[in-house]
Amino acid sequence: MKIPKILPAIITFLLFFLSCSSKTFDDHIIFTNATIWDGYSLTMQPNSALLTYEGRIIDIIDMNDPDFPEGAITVDLENRFVVPGLINAHGHVGMAKGLQTGTAAHTVENVKEQLALYARYGITTVVSLGDEPQAAFDVRDNTDFASEGLARLFMSGPVLSPSTPEEAVNAVGNLMQQHPDWVKIRVDDGLGTREKMLPEVYAAVIEASHSHGVPLAAHIVTLEDAKGIVEFNGDLIAHSVRDMPVDREFIDMMLDSDVCITPTLTREVSVYIYSERPAFFDDPFFLSGADPEILEQLTDPEIQQRYTGRAANYFREALPLAKANMMALHNAGIRVALGTDSGPPARFHGYFEHLEMEMMQNAGMNPIEILTSATRYAAECMNLDDDIGTLEPGKWADFVVLNENPFDDIQNLRNIHRVYIGGNAIQQVASQY
Ligand SMILES: [Zn+2]
Repeated sequence: MKIPKILPAIITFLLFFLSCSSKTFDDHIIFTNATIWDGYSLTMQPNSALLTYEGRIIDIIDMNDPDFPEGAITVDLENRFVVPGLINAHGHVGMAKGLQTGTAAHTVENVKEQLALYARYGITTVVSLGDEPQAAFDVRDNTDFASEGLARLFMSGPVLSPSTPEEAVNAVGNLMQQHPDWVKIRVDDGLGTREKMLPEVYAAVIEASHSHGVPLAAHIVTLEDAKGIVEFNGDLIAHSVRDMPVDREFIDMMLDSDVCITPTLTREVSVYIYSERPAFFDDPFFLSGADPEILEQLTDPEIQQRYTGRAANYFREALPLAKANMMALHNAGIRVALGTDSGPPARFHGYFEHLEMEMMQNAGMNPIEILTSATRYAAECMNLDDDIGTLEPGKWADFVVLNENPFDDIQNLRNIHRVYIGGNAIQQVASQY
């Protein structure tokens, strides 16, 4: 008989519908009474709630929705503002400990401390672009970032510097054993102090990386080198162009290839700012995450001397051009992703991202553009947008709760109430107030 055969299927079907209609949200967490920016809308959604389950977003719901979910654990955000967790598309971890580089920095403990610091400042993900120790790979592969309160970590591993196309293929092949998320190269003669990687060599690195399905980020200084990288299908320009204004040809190349740029304006600042005591050494938001001992070292005249000289002058003078080029690319519709180059000595994790966003605002970007750069664009540009970057169903519940509206002024991102990674509230320290 046919009917009994089909009966179990019908029952299953009915049970499924019954369970849906009587669904309780027992195991869900709902963050209520918030004004939420989802990462892609042009406006914020007032009077909203964020429903999450097992660390991921289920939906954003109007507080007056007649079908407002019942039974979920409720966290009342008391009319605060919610934005997606910030993403630094170009940072570094495990590179320095204080002002020291070398093996002292190459520990799991140090990497985790740095990820915790990023997280406390609302930077819930970092893509570390170059020269991470093995410890950083160990952290990436063996950490539950949400429960430990650490920024999610992606990285490139050692910066490759082959000198022939053959070496390039081998270097990429070796690197692949560490399963990097990106490959990083440097196309730069260090203001004439070293050999610059030739186009035929970086073309080979890019091709080899792509053959393994891994994108490539390039450190550049000059417009010519930036064009070369885009011409040979590189995937990210990791710094601003700093030798001359970007031209129409470059803008068109960037648009055609859909390549992003991380301006790293704070990187330029960091090479000269410590020649004197910087004003931000008195900023409570900075001090909340800074080690007083490092600040003392950085105000030692002998150390201050290191931040003078040819390179310091070059990049100090290049900074206005770097900003103007960022704006030219941004205005042309090229995606600028938040990137700071924080992580080497005296480039402070967490605080430098907020400094970078302040500089972006001063250069002419408005708060929603900067927020997009620090969330959705950073995720898209770094191929992370399946999981993070916006507050859409299915993505991680990584978000920052703010006491003031960041659409009014990007500086309001400093007024942090709480940071959540995978729905978990992390240890709260950094706040301007
Ligand atoms: Zn870098």
